Amino acid sequence: MCEVEEERGGAGAPDSFQRLWTPHRMAYIKGEGKPTGAGPEDGCPFCEIPKMDDVEGLIVARGDVVFVVLNLYPYNSGHLMVVPYRHIADYTELDPAETAELAEFTKRSLTALRKASGAQGFNVGLNLGGVAGAGIAAHLHQHIVPRWGGDTNFMPVIGHTKVLPQLLRDTRQLLADAWPKG
Ligand SMILES: [Zn+2]
Repeated sequence: MCEVEEERGGAGAPDSFQRLWTPHRMAYIKGEGKPTGAGPEDGCPFCEIPKMDDVEGLIVARGDVVFVVLNLYPYNSGHLMVVPYRHIADYTELDPAETAELAEFTKRSLTALRKASGAQGFNVGLNLGGVAGAGIAAHLHQHIVPRWGGDTNFMPVIGHTKVLPQLLRDTRQLLADAWPKG
């Protein structure tokens, strides 16, 4: 049993992965780290993350106009997001270079996830607007959620006993190592 499960008294979802991530999702639901407004200076995490180093920001790869980052509130282990550096909300606002690199980095994300984790399938897509489920609606981000049969995940690779921040750092390192160059 991992530490998080013990803290929660063994209650909750039927697989260890979901129990493991519940504290992060709770922080999200409680509004921690959410922007206070729609502008880039209103605490937008996607504007702040690129200012951090890769390990601190959980950044897997940096391109010219987009970057790839691990989701702190993942729906599955290895949940990535491809994000333009520019603070824009809608897909139609992407310029041609951003459109091209977002597509290219989506492809590389799939390759890295297959290589690092043996992902068998993916959910890829955009939630545009708060009504569509976008958590940070003001700054476009493309989700890439790896899927496995039965949704086993990175846990067999990383182990069940590490604390959450270390797990995220390990996952980031695995994906950064697997990232296809050029
Ligand atoms: Zn932003």
